[in-house]
Amino acid sequence: MSNTEFEAIVIGSGPGGASCATLLQKRGVRTLLVEKNDVLGGKMISIEKDGYAYDLFPHGQVPMTQPAFHQIYEELGVADEWAPALAADDPRDIIRIAYRARGWKEYREVMQGQAMEDPTPFFKLWDIPESEQERIMEFMTEMVTMEEEELRELDDVTMHDYLLTKNVPDAIYSYLAFHANASLAEAVDRVSASEQILIMQQMMLEGGGGQYKGGFGQLTKVMIREFEKNGGTLIRQNRVERILIENGVAAGVVTAKGTFRAPVVVSSAGLQPTVLKLIGPEHLEQSYRDYVAALEPGWAFTSIRYFLKEPVMDVAMYVTYSDESWWNKERYDRCVAGEIPKEVILFMVNHSFYDENAAPPGKQVLVSGTICPPDPDSTQIEGLWKVMDEQMVKLFPNIWEATERREYGGPRDISKLTRDSVLPGHGGECVGLGQIAGQCGQFKPKSKSPIPGVYFAGADAGAAGMGTHQSALSGMAVADMVVEYLGELGADRRVAAVG
Ligand SMILES: Cc1cc2nc3c(=O)[nH]c(=O)nc-3n(C[C@H](O)[C@H](O)[C@H](O)COP(=O)(O)OP(=O)(O)OC[C@H]3O[C@@H](n4cnc5c(N)ncnc54)[C@H](O)[C@@H]3O)c2cc1C
Repeated sequence: MSNTEFEAIVIGSGPGGASCATLLQKRGVRTLLVEKNDVLGGKMISIEKDGYAYDLFPHGQVPMTQPAFHQIYEELGVADEWAPALAADDPRDIIRIAYRARGWKEYREVMQGQAMEDPTPFFKLWDIPESEQERIMEFMTEMVTMEEEELRELDDVTMHDYLLTKNVPDAIYSYLAFHANASLAEAVDRVSASEQILIMQQMMLEGGGGQYKGGFGQLTKVMIREFEKNGGTLIRQNRVERILIENGVAAGVVTAKGTFRAPVVVSSAGLQPTVLKLIGPEHLEQSYRDYVAALEPGWAFTSIRYFLKEPVMDVAMYVTYSDESWWNKERYDRCVAGEIPKEVILFMVNHSFYDENAAPPGKQVLVSGTICPPDPDSTQIEGLWKVMDEQMVKLFPNIWEATERREYGGPRDISKLTRDSVLPGHGGECVGLGQIAGQCGQFKPKSKSPIPGVYFAGADAGAAGMGTHQSALSGMAVADMVVEYLGELGADRRVAAVG
């Protein structure tokens, strides 16, 4: 084969693409990975600059016990390099949660470990009377122990509708509404109950505050290093402009740096950009294109990175929410209409807690975020940054004296860095397509496209769970499908198809 001919081409080096490409190459499939950026990792990108090492966007790994990446490391034969910053069973309380109920003047706080093993401190935080606690425990136990079949029945039920049947106190509803925002970037009255409960189960039982030394980008580094070590070809700064389809099957890609041929093309560029932009309309039924176009995007996250000459935060993660600050669909719509809320939820990651080399000695880097619309042209982002900054001062009164520099990010940066905006208001999604009722579980878009040899890997297709974990699971599943497909093609047709 020439250096423009491969057995599989993978578009994009986010967790979906990188996991799929590295597993294919490890299994002996001659693979080309094409990434439009110079820096690899997609939304899971980490930056090393001026002595700081941090994630561009605030990330936490769920679950911490056996996340998809660990399984990938095992198959790659590098399990000895698996180095989460904290062990999943680290006994320390590392996450601070601050909550303010309607009517309270101040926030109250509680600390928890990576897994939420004991809800008693939360009962105190939420002011749950003793007489109610047993009922709440039963409700939580039911959620945490729900089997796959029961979850399946909730694929097209919203968390809000599920909670209505359980008659939970306001504080519990508020916590789960906040959770829908912070973990899934969704509204409580849109998010799929099965998807949210699955993530809650993993978070509570298998740990939910995970990070890696060097940031999440460390995972990309190892996967891509192994990909190249095993003979894979990586071309950076190369945008795929079109997926080649010949005689109704995948035939390769047309890129800024030339045409590459292969009988398999795996795209992690986003389902909508792939179907509506990279594959010509003549190759797909209009009904499939309409289905894809009608899928709803998830929300985005803003981020502010604070580079501090002295530490201000003493825990690994800090999240704040109130009865008024989480968003349901109505609160979101109000923001989109221009009404910037007075208070927002905040999600803060202190990289220096996880990694002593995340900042120069004596300094600290904090990344904070809140939910926002996915529209790259959203005009609300500056208003949200202002509210975030005001809240940060309330939490850390000396933060401005300590700040050397701040960086601001939002859906425009997310879209520019990762997926193209191919529909009005889409592009800056935090996870990918919305994890909403009717789009998850049995209703999740499939990884196998209608075109033989074209697959979708990443957050948009084929898996469940929190962003990076489900993207890697999707990449793993697609690697299995590709190996099977190539096997069906047989050795002759593999060569003939690319010849
Ligand atoms: C602010 C923020 C906070 C988050 N927090 C968490 C968290 O706490 N926990 C968690 O697990 N997840 C979190 N996520 C979500 C997670 O990062 C994503 O769900 C995941 O990275 C998606 O992976 P992917 O492989 O589907 O796509 P992406 O990461 O979007 O990667 C797609 C890749 O394809 C490339 N590409 C696109 N088009 C082309 C083209 N035409 N040619 C070549 N290359 C192309 C892009 O450059 C990119 O590298 C967060 C995301 C954001 C933005």
